[in-house]
Amino acid sequence: MKPNNFNYVRAESVDHVLSCLAEHGENARILAGGQSLIAMMNFRLVEPAYLIDISGLDELKEIKTNGNSVEISAAVTQAKVIAAADVNEHLSLLVDALPNVGHFQTRAKGTFCGSIAHSDPSSEQPLCFAILGGEAVLKSNRGERVLAASEFQTGMLATAREDDELLTSVRLPKQNPSAGHAFEEITRRQGDFAIVAIAVIADGENIRIGVGGVAGKPEVRDWDGLADSDIDDALNALAWELGDNEDIHASAKYRRQMVRRVGRRVIEEARKCRS
Ligand SMILES: Cc1cc2nc3c(=O)[nH]c(=O)nc-3n(C[C@H](O)[C@H](O)[C@H](O)COP(=O)(O)OP(=O)(O)OC[C@H]3O[C@@H](n4cnc5c(N)ncnc54)[C@H](O)[C@@H]3O)c2cc1C
Repeated sequence: MKPNNFNYVRAESVDHVLSCLAEHGENARILAGGQSLIAMMNFRLVEPAYLIDISGLDELKEIKTNGNSVEISAAVTQAKVIAAADVNEHLSLLVDALPNVGHFQTRAKGTFCGSIAHSDPSSEQPLCFAILGGEAVLKSNRGERVLAASEFQTGMLATAREDDELLTSVRLPKQNPSAGHAFEEITRRQGDFAIVAIAVIADGENIRIGVGGVAGKPEVRDWDGLADSDIDDALNALAWELGDNEDIHASAKYRRQMVRRVGRRVIEEARKCRS
């Protein structure tokens, strides 16, 4: 299918984007990499009257380190994130997880922030955003607000962003260099969305586990001082807590089993990498 008619706006600056959103917000969509939006428009799942293209805005192409966090602006592609020196130094979980996002062609266009705004529960990026405890920076003509990942992510393809707001960047706290981390996902084919994705950060006696692809949004739990003999029980309880979502890709029972099995493996891997 082809998309319905729309007006295309090539943004000239962030201020220009904010005025367009103030005027047309309810009927507009931001076009970042287009790797999710264009497919949705072709299927007529969304029919925006205005597309505001931010992909040419140099002011949104920065990755910068501010104190304890790394800030990724809205037009930075996934490929640029994987290659960035700041990310390689401080956010090695992203370097492990992002090569699983689609294919190198889609990563060359798709943006990190676009995926956070899209909020697909099977996507690797919202999972990393949640487990790292990131923040979403939202701007509108009304001002700026900063939301923690747990406030921003509200459900499947749903966020706390208002129609007139642009997600200008995402801030991610630097990982503790002595903590270990690991990431693994189950997919039918390389490059597919995750049926189940698990990330773990093992910091001292704390295990932080994040699970994507099972519930409506990524779920994160902190387990402090959990004995090795209690890990299987904790994973089993988590698998049941995440609900009964099933689809053409996998049953709820299969997903629960992957949370237990893959979860165990990823925890062991992350613990091995602690220094
Ligand atoms: C073949 C293929 C395979 C893929 N496989 C995977 C995969 O395995 N894992 C995965 O995570 N993704 C996958 N994707 C999706 C890809 O990662 C997208 O790039 C990503 O989901 C959205 O980023 P984008 O920049 O393309 O956003 P767009 O498609 O441009 O936008 C997506 C949505 O977010 C909104 N939006 C974008 N940026 C902003 C902003 N700054 N402020 C406010 N709203 C905004 C848009 O209006 C739209 O509603 C795949 C895509 C393709 C085509």
